[in-house]
Amino acid sequence: MGRPIIITREPVEQRFWRRVNKSATNGCWLWTGAVYPNGYGHLGGVYEERDIRKPVSRYAHRLSYEFCVGKIPAGLQVLHRCDVRHCVNPKHLFVGTQKDNVQDAISKCRATVCSNNAMAKLTEADAIQIRKEYEAATIKRGVRAALSRVFRVSHITITRIIKRERWKYAEHFIGKSNPHQP
Ligand SMILES: [Zn+2]
Repeated sequence: MGRPIIITREPVEQRFWRRVNKSATNGCWLWTGAVYPNGYGHLGGVYEERDIRKPVSRYAHRLSYEFCVGKIPAGLQVLHRCDVRHCVNPKHLFVGTQKDNVQDAISKCRATVCSNNAMAKLTEADAIQIRKEYEAATIKRGVRAALSRVFRVSHITITRIIKRERWKYAEHFIGKSNPHQP
């Protein structure tokens, strides 16, 4: 006994970065490892100073923040500017409180109830028009902001419509009964 423990495992940072895909065009660094049902990526087998004998599973975005930015202040959460939960780009991360996280989610219309309301405000025709306007604009800068003012929905909703994450099949529904119309 008393022999030093030789850790032959690949260092955690190396294991971490092997699971990151930086090729997304929007700048997100996507976690390609395991993802929890809540959408956040995680890495198992992480040894922490407080108990080096017992490996733990850690959120990928929190690890990224620690590797690239520094220690996460006690009690604070690491939040996403980009709203992509399995993104680990430190430039897309910031620290905040639980309350900030909830407010952030509401402002981005990520919470389900809020998303539904945001969608209910628009019709399929609106979604089609938003895409057309955006595609027609030769200079894209400021177009999303303008559309967000015109249609009175969040910037993120406009972005999602343009990317077809929302109202994916809007064109398909035109001419059919519209469940969102009064
Ligand atoms: Zn991101």
